[in-house]
Order: sequence, then C-alpha cells, then structure tokens
Amino acid sequence: MEKEPTNGEKKLTCGDKAACMQLLEMILDGQADDDQCAQLESKLEKCLPCFEYYHLEKTIREVMKSKCTNKEVPKDLLSNIREIIAKA
Ligand SMILES: [Zn+2]
Repeated sequence: MEKEPTNGEKKLTCGDKAACMQLLEMILDGQADDDQCAQLESKLEKCLPCFEYYHLEKTIREVMKSKCTNKEVPKDLLSNIREIIAKA
C-alpha cells in the first residue's frame, strides 16, 4: 500500500496543471474576473506546486515592475527559476 505524501491539506502534485496555469497567468496579468480569482483560490488551497508557482511568479513580476519598467527583462533569472520549479 502506498501512501500519497501530503503537506497538510495540500497535494504535492497538481492534478489539473493546465487549468491551474491558465488561471494563474490570467490573474498575474490582471485579466481575471472575481469568479476566476475565486476559482484559483480554491485550487491553490489544495495544490502545493501551483501555490508555490503563483507566489514565485507574483514576486518575480513585482520585482520586474519596480526594477525594469520598460525594457530588459532578466530572462536568465526567469528561466532559471522556472527550471527549478519544473524539477521540484
Ligand atoms: Zn494546480
């Protein structure tokens, strides 16, 4: 019998990553409505990888907004972090 590893209520793997990512992108881009925000919140409550991804992306975007207003996005930094997440 295998036990699924859990961290509190959150799952360690995402069962619906495509849908999670789509919602995440919309919210991070500020395009989501209240309904979609509520949807994402309920997903993030149960989904650890997406929860972490969301907060990381949000932090990255905030840093980029404050440091690089127009040009020169640090792509290396972004892809490095995304790689780390993909491996996690
Ligand atoms: Zn998810």
